[in-house]
Amino acid sequence: EQQAALAASSGPGRTSDGFMVPLLANVGGPGDLPAALEHGAEGVGLFRTEFLFLDDSAKAPSEDKQVEAYRKVLEAFPDGRVVVRVLDAGADKPLEFLTPADEPNPALGVRGLRTLLEHPEVLRSQLRALARAAEGLSVGLEVMAPMVADREDARAFAVACREAGLDAKYGAMVEIPSAALRAGSLLQEVEFLSLGTNDLAQYTFAADRQVGSLARLQDPWQPALLDLIASAAGAAQAVGKSCGVCGEAASDPLLACVLTGLGVTSLSMGAAAIPYVRGALAQVSLAQCRQAAEAARAADSAAEARAAAQQVLSGV
Ligand code: PEP
Ligand code: MG
Repeated sequence: EQQAALAASSGPGRTSDGFMVPLLANVGGPGDLPAALEHGAEGVGLFRTEFLFLDDSAKAPSEDKQVEAYRKVLEAFPDGRVVVRVLDAGADKPLEFLTPADEPNPALGVRGLRTLLEHPEVLRSQLRALARAAEGLSVGLEVMAPMVADREDARAFAVACREAGLDAKYGAMVEIPSAALRAGSLLQEVEFLSLGTNDLAQYTFAADRQVGSLARLQDPWQPALLDLIASAAGAAQAVGKSCGVCGEAASDPLLACVLTGLGVTSLSMGAAAIPYVRGALAQVSLAQCRQAAEAARAADSAAEARAAAQQVLSGV
């Protein structure tokens, strides 16, 4: 128990039997770095770059301004990993100069990668700024695209990354059920996956993430969501590529253990949750995580899934 308490306060994420699960921070910009460092994040698993664009939603920030912000984030983790998500405009993150004003259903409209493919100059400028920001640094830079629906989307993003000559791994977010179901096909085009469980839940249950009264259907313990996570993580495992989680689900210590059992390879969350997730993982073995994942998937509701996992992982 003393050991678990120690593990909770510092060190890399790992189960009691030494299975490594990197714990990364979700950040919106340089302002979130002190908390990430303070809580011992091993890197950044989701840098939401749209926050840079919110200052003035009438136009894109200059490339120099982008370079400056990206550089600060990259410099904070000289030996770590930083996963930068290219602009995710639209739906819950509208940008005046990019987001169509007259869409009947913005969450199902032109958003995320779809926006960038319609405005390739914005994507090119982001990738160029990232390449400049990473110059001379040893950080493991990774870039990923939001709202990838199919292999064609994944390929378009991969091509843009290669054309930009960026020295970074490129990946796809899995936040649409089609992407989770056919994750193996996406992995023919990209080097890693990252599950955005907030949107994945929204699209799986057709339940708007901004409508509080639908919270029951946004619950990340929903077994249908766990099935989709298992599908994506399994496909990545089969080809030896990584599949992290960067949605809110990763910040629930018990669920973090279940995600590990489902085959997820890293967990990214708001920095304040990191010590709790680190502490939980330190108390359980990988085999227990797998057993809890199986029990949760066998349940018929979110509440039952949680209870089943809790029973297996009684110390957490
Ligand atoms: C998600 O959808 O789970 C995610 C991580 O991205 P965002 O919350 O920024 O849409
Ligand atoms: Mg999302």
